[in-house]
Amino acid sequence: MPLDLAPYAVTPTNSKGRRYAEEPPAYRSEFQRDRDRIIHSAAFRRLVYKTQVFVNHEGDLYRTRLTHSLEVAQIARTVARSMCLNEDLVEAISLAHDLGHTPFGHSGQDALNACMREFGGFEHNLQSLRVVDQLEESHADFPGLNLTYETREGILKHCSATNARGLGELGERFLQRQQPGLEAQLANVADEIAYNNHDIDDGLRAGLINLTDLATVPIVAEQLDVVRHRHPGISGRREIHEVVRSMIGVFVTDLINTSCELVRDAAPVDIAAVREQPSALIGFSDGYASEKTALKQFLREHLYRHPRVSKMTKQAQDIVSKLFEIYLNDYQRMPPEHADRARSHHDADGLAGGARVVADYIAGMTDRFALQAHEASRKGS
Ligand code: MG
Repeated sequence: MPLDLAPYAVTPTNSKGRRYAEEPPAYRSEFQRDRDRIIHSAAFRRLVYKTQVFVNHEGDLYRTRLTHSLEVAQIARTVARSMCLNEDLVEAISLAHDLGHTPFGHSGQDALNACMREFGGFEHNLQSLRVVDQLEESHADFPGLNLTYETREGILKHCSATNARGLGELGERFLQRQQPGLEAQLANVADEIAYNNHDIDDGLRAGLINLTDLATVPIVAEQLDVVRHRHPGISGRREIHEVVRSMIGVFVTDLINTSCELVRDAAPVDIAAVREQPSALIGFSDGYASEKTALKQFLREHLYRHPRVSKMTKQAQDIVSKLFEIYLNDYQRMPPEHADRARSHHDADGLAGGARVVADYIAGMTDRFALQAHEASRKGS
């Protein structure tokens, strides 16, 4: 049973609504409808074959963008329910937050951004919004999924001032330095809790990091002690899983306690008051914020920059850059619907218009599709 929502939570009544007016749903809330549209989208299905850290074909047990998004959603829902925030909304935001990711994770995005430098750049957050606002073709009456303002607000975590100016009301907060709703703030922090912890698990599984080195991070050492004290003689996968579980637990507990305090002190009367706050009301205590920073730093140095990951990164960047060059030089090398779109956007907006369609096509690829397309191009087909 849904609990009563806090006065500062987003509700279907205080929602700023959809870009194209629709009848309210018969059996679901507006935000359940958003979630369902996201789950039924083609971009969501592709997340299963997109890299989080490890390329999709490296192993079946690693996180993909899909399982990552599910983990984000479950963490965000737990916190939302305990704080009487809108659980349906945080679920929708969490499931959609990575829809715009390119194949091959951040290395794919960096490569595509470099290719698009002269044409306005490429940014995965903005691309996630583009997917739900324009690229999905599910409805007869409007482009995209026509999601609520609040789900779109949550998807757009970051945005440059230049891009914000082209986004109307949704871009305003980046120019006015306002906050998004609490549900959007929460999905963002849940994302961090999820990837920091599951990357530990995946990194250990891949043998790229080990528990001894990892225990140089204070919070890991602390939770390892707790686990060993609670389960003497524990080892192997069970020990790792207990530590990861324990870490998620302490981060979530600190997040709930700190956020409840921040909300109580700021006492926002409604969602408008949340948006006017000088800073976010969902966050960690100072202690946990620095624990999180130390953990991220360890992962950056030892996992994301590990030679094996870097090698993959370099290959991924080469593939994305090569595909971009091929398609930009000859739109016909893309499937007919993309080639047609590229030509019509080129006619309207010049090369930048065509380049954007090429970027959309490449960003939509899964890891394995991009590998196959690259392989096919090398054979000249
Ligand atoms: Mg994410």
